[in-house]
Parts: sequence; C-alpha cells; structure tokens
Amino acid sequence: MHALQHIRSRSIGLLAAAVVATGLVPLAAGSAQAAPAASTGSCPAAGQVTQWWSSSGHDGVDIANATGTPIYAAGAGQVIAAGTASGYGLWIRIKHDDGYVTEYGHMDTIGVSTGQRVNSGQQIATMGNRGVSTGPHLHFEVQTAAGGRGINPVPYLADRGVSLPCSPGSGTPGTNFSTWGTSVNVRADVRLDARVVRTLTGPTRVYVECQKRGDTVNAEGYSNNAWSYVPALGGYISNIYIDHADAWLPGVREC
Ligand SMILES: [Zn+2]
Repeated sequence: MHALQHIRSRSIGLLAAAVVATGLVPLAAGSAQAAPAASTGSCPAAGQVTQWWSSSGHDGVDIANATGTPIYAAGAGQVIAAGTASGYGLWIRIKHDDGYVTEYGHMDTIGVSTGQRVNSGQQIATMGNRGVSTGPHLHFEVQTAAGGRGINPVPYLADRGVSLPCSPGSGTPGTNFSTWGTSVNVRADVRLDARVVRTLTGPTRVYVECQKRGDTVNAEGYSNNAWSYVPALGGYISNIYIDHADAWLPGVREC
C-alpha cells in the first residue's frame, strides 16, 4: 500500500473510530470506496463432470451425483427464475452483480424463489433427474449480460477461484490482513449495535475467513458496508479497519 493511501486511511479510520464510539454515523457526500461488484465464486455441486461445454454442442457442464446432492449458488446475486421449465423440469437462474447469469437445470427440489437475493455458496436446490435427463445431474450454464448461448463455464469459474470438478465449501481459503487504528471493536454481528466481543488496542494481524455486507460505515467520503469475519476473535470487524485499499477484500469469499 502506498504511504499516502495509508495516511489517508488512518485519518479516516480515527474519525470512524470516534464516530462509532459516539454511536453516530455521519452521512457521506461521496463514495471513494465503491460498493463491491462481485464476490468470490463457489462450487455449484460436488460430483463427476459427465459432459463438458463445447462450442457447437453442449452449452453448459453436467455434474453428476446422487439425487438430493446439494446445489449451491455459484456467486452472489438475485434469483430471476425459479420453477418449472421445459427440458429442465425445474430450473433456477441467478443474475450476478457483474451482469453474468448462471443457470441450473434438472433439479429434484428448489429452495429459492424469484426475486430472492442469494449469497455465493448458498444452497439453492438439490440434484435431480427431471426433464430431459438420463440420470441425476446438474446442468450448469453461464450466460453473459447480453444473454444468448451459454459460454464455457470452466474459465468463468476459474476466474472466480473454482476449478471443476469441485468440492463445495472448500473454495477460496481465507486470507491474512492487518487491522489498524486503536480501539477497534469486534462485534458479534455485522451491525453497529451488535454486541462488542472484543476491542483491539492496536494494529492486529487477523485471519479473515469470509466477509459479508452489513451496516454501512460512512466517513469523509468513504462508504463501506463490508465486514470481515475473524474466527479467532469470534466476530466481525468493519472493513474500514482492515488495512487494505479495497472496500471488498480481494480473495476472500462471501460468508
Ligand atoms: Zn447439460
């Protein structure tokens, strides 16, 4: 990190610390740290890849496993379709924050509904054999924001830290960061009114297992609603106190 950035962050952090201490959160005029656009990818399902994508044929990948095997959202986003669909029997489509759409077919059961927001790695369905299918499997497909024929899911997932075949939950490992500033509160949840489980007196090395959105902390044009989960401390720290220029920490999955 550049020294200038460091100094700027530190001054803002001290203000933010004072703000949190008084329980007041001033409104910011601008947002120097943009809202996170995308989160880390997740393994959609455990199983054997029985058919890969091809440029002229199959427009997704098929992952085969037993009926009832959990199926997970490959990334955070909004469910834009969930229900019956010809060929698929049942399908789910998720529009992700970066515009891509992931599509899931042939499920036995689905556990989300249209309009619902899902986290990366959240279970959305169980594997099945509905529709045009010769055995229980997941048809997983990726479309660009422009729609149309599915693109190759392999590089799409690789860009997000997932390689097929994959194991759910074993995706991107956590990462070490440092906190900065003094009197940094670790809270039981991602809210400014959540119980303080610990207070860090000074810069502390922390292993961040995952991050999630919660109460927004605004200060001097910075706006950050991301919080880091630190298992060793038993709680969450606002990312404003994590010594990194990005509001949403790179390489850390969503909780
Ligand atoms: Zn398929």
